[in-house]
Amino acid sequence: MPPPSSSPTHGKKKSASAPARTPDQPRHVDNALLADGRLVRLTIRDGRFDAIAPMADAPACADALDLGGLLVLPLLVDGHLHLDKTLLGLPWMPHAAGPTRASRIETELGLMPTLPLSTAERAGHLIRACAAHGTGTLRTHVDVEPQNGLKALEGVLEARAAHRDWAQIQIVAFPQTGVMRAPGTLELLDAAIAAGADLVGGMDPCEVDCDPAGQLNGIFAIAHRRGVGVDVHLHESDELGLFSIREICKRAKALGMQGHVTISHGFCLGHVSESKARATADLMAAAGVNLVTHGAASHPLPPLALLREHGVTVFAGNDNVRDIWSPYGTGDALERASLIGWRADWRTDAQMMDAFDLVTASAARGMGLTFSPVAVGEAASFFAVRAGGVAEALAARPVREIVVRGGLVLARGGVSSQSLVSV
Ligand SMILES: [Zn+2]
Repeated sequence: MPPPSSSPTHGKKKSASAPARTPDQPRHVDNALLADGRLVRLTIRDGRFDAIAPMADAPACADALDLGGLLVLPLLVDGHLHLDKTLLGLPWMPHAAGPTRASRIETELGLMPTLPLSTAERAGHLIRACAAHGTGTLRTHVDVEPQNGLKALEGVLEARAAHRDWAQIQIVAFPQTGVMRAPGTLELLDAAIAAGADLVGGMDPCEVDCDPAGQLNGIFAIAHRRGVGVDVHLHESDELGLFSIREICKRAKALGMQGHVTISHGFCLGHVSESKARATADLMAAAGVNLVTHGAASHPLPPLALLREHGVTVFAGNDNVRDIWSPYGTGDALERASLIGWRADWRTDAQMMDAFDLVTASAARGMGLTFSPVAVGEAASFFAVRAGGVAEALAARPVREIVVRGGLVLARGGVSSQSLVSV
């Protein structure tokens, strides 16, 4: 199959308002504490880290940005969001939906068209909220269903274009109302990929569609033909969910799509015995099928350490952020990793590093993207917090004092920038 597409990297691009910097005008960022404990000067040139040197060796520089020993970490990666659904930007709205999925879908279909802010405006609020918390890359699912067609996708595509300097955004065309039970959805998913979505989504092939082969054959056929990945929302419980995972793994392997297929949630993995979870983890690892979790409160957490141990790429995302589905959430991926670490009972520094990995390197790998560490030659992308190390940052979730992406300042003091200028 051709390589899956992904949205282009925009980290190097500067906004129109950024002052011109020539390659001979480096910017020094002093007293930056790296995760390995070194206190360094970061030299940024043309949007990239040009040099990283111990502060002890750095000659005095009057106009350096002095971080005063703040911890500098790579930008976060949120592997599962719903930009089109958020109510951010609007006054607080009490949770209106009932406790069932059907009620949430029905409430959403009725309420969203009445909102005073467009999809693009609300999505923009959430992108900037994520950025203010240090997220520079995200994957969003966007509703594609017969009632509204590609309207939500058009709004999110507009927001993505307007925020190209803020974040790299992957879009999953998401069949919220089902595939086989909502005739016309397969055609819409195909049209969504043609319009700019990056992956084909799926939704509980047994429970929602009662036709697992129909849904999975349909979405995998589109993805394979278009050369894109697949990301399936899977809320199904126990054995039913395991059956769907096996069917997904079978197709990922048969079509040579290893590494490009993700299961979102996979609640069933937290319901079954350890031996069944291990057998399923082996299948997923062999088929290159990833798992993304948001640590749902409503289900036992999938056995994340076990899955990682078996070679499954596990990553994390915020899922619903202040929308019809959940009033909670801030768009903070560090907070999400912390909540998941807490739920997994990961207490040691090494385990807390694993939690951080869910929203950094593993998330980028799970999304088929290259991760940008704080290193010479990489895009000058980082955030700085008052903490002595990664574990403390994860536990305390301190204010992101500054967030920089490709040399541009996205936020200071937890507040997103009005316009983007060079650091
Ligand atoms: Zn979701």
